[in-house]
Amino acid sequence: MAVTVDKTAPAGKGHNAFAMAQAQFDGVAEYLGLDAATRELLRNPLREYHFGIPIRMDDGSMKVFRGFRVQHNDARGPGKGGIRFHPQETVDTVRALSMWMTWKCAVVDIPLGGSKGGVVCDPHNLSAREQEQVCRGWVRQISHDVGPLLDVPAPDVMTTPQHMLWMLDEFEHIHRGHFPGFITGKPVGMGGSLGRTEATGFGVVFTIREALKEMGLRPDATAASVQGFGNVAQYAIRLYEQLGGKVLCVSSWDQADQTSYSFRKATGVNLDALLSITDRFGGIDKAKAKTMGYEVLDGEAWLAQEVDILIPAALENQIRGDNVERIHSKVKLIAEGANGPTTPEADAVIKKRGIFDIPDFLANAGGVTCSYFEQVQSNMNYYWERDEVLGRLDVKMTAAYLAVSELARKRGLYMRDAAYVIAINRVVEACKQRGWI
Ligand code: GLU
Repeated sequence: MAVTVDKTAPAGKGHNAFAMAQAQFDGVAEYLGLDAATRELLRNPLREYHFGIPIRMDDGSMKVFRGFRVQHNDARGPGKGGIRFHPQETVDTVRALSMWMTWKCAVVDIPLGGSKGGVVCDPHNLSAREQEQVCRGWVRQISHDVGPLLDVPAPDVMTTPQHMLWMLDEFEHIHRGHFPGFITGKPVGMGGSLGRTEATGFGVVFTIREALKEMGLRPDATAASVQGFGNVAQYAIRLYEQLGGKVLCVSSWDQADQTSYSFRKATGVNLDALLSITDRFGGIDKAKAKTMGYEVLDGEAWLAQEVDILIPAALENQIRGDNVERIHSKVKLIAEGANGPTTPEADAVIKKRGIFDIPDFLANAGGVTCSYFEQVQSNMNYYWERDEVLGRLDVKMTAAYLAVSELARKRGLYMRDAAYVIAINRVVEACKQRGWI
């Protein structure tokens, strides 16, 4: 199906993420023949909150940070989705991400809706105390419009289990009681689930494993290149290597230079060695990497490697019309660990070249699936063993992957479109049953 993008979207590299999410939805809505009211309901968020978060900084000055929560759709259950801390955060990015959360929860068939939050800030430049104040301030501004039965936040880009615990603590002070189901991604032992930290990266690799099986390829005969070196990338590399795959290149953001670099080793990167020279945001030390024998290349070099698999696991808008041609002819599979890494122009080229693409809201659904398990455990106040969590995660991710790939094969659809068809149908059905449309 054809995807057209709103050309009025702000200029810049890539697209306005919300215009991109709407264009993807519109293409599938047309294919499904959805009526006008249904389209109107689902191409926009149901509710959104914009607020200021005043913080007293360590030097005594006051600063106001912009915060958001966007609730796209909660027909299938309470809203669910992470909170990002990022200096370039915009409300349109949060809108897009909230919409993608709706489809993500629906495609893995968990009883949750889609939301997303954000704060315009750079935690690299905030002390631990200032970060705590941002977390508590975010909850204070929205404490009556989120909650275990309404909308449940989680970690995302540059937010951590510690941030989640500060948010929970503030929520519990305001509402007087213990409400561990208010937030997920909490530290283990404080209401968190074993396996949650690994879940997104591992989930990406569960889908890669299934795709390789369908292609008749053994993981130990493949090589991959990864964009990003944060939580998702690190655990994806860990499990992919356990399956026998070799990662030849990773990229990471360099805070000092305000750009990213790629790190390549022809014999394969050493995950533990790289982790020993990586900061808490996933930034790899260039000088130390060089002494370890890594070639340090430009930030997009990860895309041009002679590998079988590409795993974009950083941010949205990374594979675009202006760089998609850098993808090596050997690449057979792209597994989108990030949300929205591929713009519609790049997607069209990937489709034409016959590269198999596992779309973001399917490939990276392991995080929210494990968040759902965490909520279940928190509500029961009974916690499972790590193997039980990861076993259930594997079952859920594999079933979702197989349902999408089967539909794609049957109807001759691109994987992203097949995933959308399943997700949108489930959400439309829930809205109909509730009498919303
Ligand atoms: N931030 C993750 C995502 O984009 C996880 C969300 C959650 O666990 O609620 O899927």
